[in-house]
Amino acid sequence: MPGTLAAGTPRVGLGGSRWCTAGRWGEGVRLDHVDVLIVGAGLSGIGAACHLRRRCRDKTFAILEARGRIGGTWDLFRYPGVRSDSDMFTLGYSFRPWTDPQAIAEGDSICRYIRETAREHGVAEHIRFHHRVVRAEWSSEHARWTVEAQRTDTSGSVVLTCSFLFVCAGYYRYDEGYTPQFRGTERFTGQIVHPQQWPDDLDYARKRVVVIGSGATAVTLVPALAEKAAHVTMLQRSPSYVLSLPTQDAVADFLRRRLPPTVAYPIARWKNALLATLAFQLSRRAPGVMKSLLRKGATAQLPDGYDVDTHFRPRYNPWDQRLCLVPDGDLFQAIRSGRVSVVTDHIETFTEHGIRLASGTALEADLVVTATGLNLLAIGGMTLRVAGAEVDLGHTVAYKGMMLSGVPNFALTLGYTNASWTLKADLVSEYVCRLLNHMDQRGYQVCTPLAPDTPQREPIIDLQSGYVLRSVAVLPKQGPTAPWRLHQNYPRDVLLMRHGSLEDESMRFTRTPAAVRAVDTALAGSPTIGT
Ligand SMILES: Cc1cc2nc3c(=O)[nH]c(=O)nc-3n(C[C@H](O)[C@H](O)[C@H](O)COP(=O)(O)OP(=O)(O)OC[C@H]3O[C@@H](n4cnc5c(N)ncnc54)[C@H](O)[C@@H]3O)c2cc1C
Repeated sequence: MPGTLAAGTPRVGLGGSRWCTAGRWGEGVRLDHVDVLIVGAGLSGIGAACHLRRRCRDKTFAILEARGRIGGTWDLFRYPGVRSDSDMFTLGYSFRPWTDPQAIAEGDSICRYIRETAREHGVAEHIRFHHRVVRAEWSSEHARWTVEAQRTDTSGSVVLTCSFLFVCAGYYRYDEGYTPQFRGTERFTGQIVHPQQWPDDLDYARKRVVVIGSGATAVTLVPALAEKAAHVTMLQRSPSYVLSLPTQDAVADFLRRRLPPTVAYPIARWKNALLATLAFQLSRRAPGVMKSLLRKGATAQLPDGYDVDTHFRPRYNPWDQRLCLVPDGDLFQAIRSGRVSVVTDHIETFTEHGIRLASGTALEADLVVTATGLNLLAIGGMTLRVAGAEVDLGHTVAYKGMMLSGVPNFALTLGYTNASWTLKADLVSEYVCRLLNHMDQRGYQVCTPLAPDTPQREPIIDLQSGYVLRSVAVLPKQGPTAPWRLHQNYPRDVLLMRHGSLEDESMRFTRTPAAVRAVDTALAGSPTIGT
């Protein structure tokens, strides 16, 4: 039977094992137990573990990671030029200054930063690699999750229990990116590659390359490929907003020259977080002003007479989809140099030697890169069971953007879409630590967000991007007002999550039946008040 612990199933060696009865996992089976189980050793999972080490020193924890390495996104993506598209003062952790000179950093440096953080904070040894978590079942009686992970290096599976499940599994499928169905691909004699599966030995020197897409990955790849390729064409169905920012942050550099990192870093971080918030608010409140600023910025960097409106004026408002950032205007420079051209058109079919467009134009290519996006995946594809029934994520509502209605002792990390991921990830981890400490102080074992009583629901990610719209039905929702509303606003979230009350009418704290019995027994044996 799936989910039942078979005789001889290996257990994760975590220390601190306890006996428990875990219902359908097998009565009386001895399962290893941790207080907090983190799923994923990417930027968020490592950050979560560091926060736990710093703020909840007595808690036992483990990290289960499906892959064989730390880093998640920053280890997976290997295409040329891979880099952050937000500054590292806000993509870095609040507790560990980013000290490299580059504010917009390459994938390798980000990965190194994550690995070094894990080592410095003593969390690396708590990671169990090659463990993909596939399901978790909640027991109200014992106030714990029983979690099953499949080994990705062997065919085995392991089962363990935890009191709190903290999912930091990112937001997309790792096994394959999104590629739309294009006609005629079988006829194409060149190579087709998705950036998520970039072959190590792919030689694109002196080749004619077409990159399909206009998002962050496309604008990163295009100038990088153009350094060696014969020519690169960025083929887009519709344009995105593209904003040029300096690779180095002059204000942060000034501060770093004069102040110790522990002082300069938080100032630079707040400065950039506030600027991002301002830019987003301006886009929402005065989209016309923002559109005009972005258009002026692009025009100034493109060749004279360039058709800016066809290729760089989107039909949507800024921040209805993610803004694309290009460091030091590298994309515009590559266009100016003639090594890159942008074509805005629809693909009719692949041909033997390239792509024929709806306009009739033929693009010749040796290599086609489909920078067409990701497949969203909530909570790492695992299933949750509560009260004997599978949780339908699409029907849950996110409490403070990090817990799910009706799901006890559970949190997930979903970063900002309009600012750096880590700004929110840090706040989520801090909140989980506060919550755990609060529960310990008050003698609670269980915390469960209760669904809001208004029927109004909206998607948790409020972007109009294709990859979001394709998955809206299966993602958790947000409600109309706090604490169910996601404001995507860092200063506001700092107040709510770092300083706000942990107890409100939407969160139910309880004790397990066993804990209640223990308290009753203790009270029965002690003198009553007033005697
Ligand atoms: C190419 C690219 C560039 C980006 N650039 C930026 C940027 O500049 N700024 C920004 O803010 N955001 C950016 N993002 C978003 C980015 O994903 C986040 O910044 C951040 O890396 C997310 O970290 P994470 O740890 O939450 O998720 P991930 O990096 O996706 O890591 C998740 C980890 O969980 C593991 N995992 C998943 N499911 C399971 C499971 N069931 N069991 C066990 N382990 C599991 C994965 O193997 C992985 O190691 C970018 C995303 C991409 C794809």
